[in-house]
Amino acid sequence: MGSTIFSKIIAGEIPCRKAYEDDRVLAFHDIKPQAPLHVLIIPKIEIPTMDDVAPNQESLVGHMVWVAAEIARREGVAKDGYRLVFNCRDNGGQEVYHIHLHLLGGRQMAWPPG
Ligand code: 5GP
Repeated sequence: MGSTIFSKIIAGEIPCRKAYEDDRVLAFHDIKPQAPLHVLIIPKIEIPTMDDVAPNQESLVGHMVWVAAEIARREGVAKDGYRLVFNCRDNGGQEVYHIHLHLLGGRQMAWPPG
């Protein structure tokens, strides 16, 4: 255990600005926000990429999505809308190999993404 910076955040060894926490997930504000609201929702267990999600972990990933929507409501961006993103491996732009859901809100998003 403890192979990425997110494991250290879960362990409390590196501080974060917490947005939500329960027994399965932790959510915290991104250190380099790409929007007025930029929160990362991560599972407390280590799963390196979305390609590694096992069939019996689908409810965990669904819970991450629900938590993102709940944070969006609490932070007041739900009515205007927001974007949820999972980056997977090199072509997806993944930097930290512990799956995380980006919640981006508070501004108009562009499409297609870069
Ligand atoms: P990825 O590119 O892997 O999808 O996204 C990783 C995200 O983690 C980036 O948006 C980056 O800014 C964020 N990040 C990396 N290290 C830290 C950290 O130590 N603290 C916080 N709060 N965010 C981090």
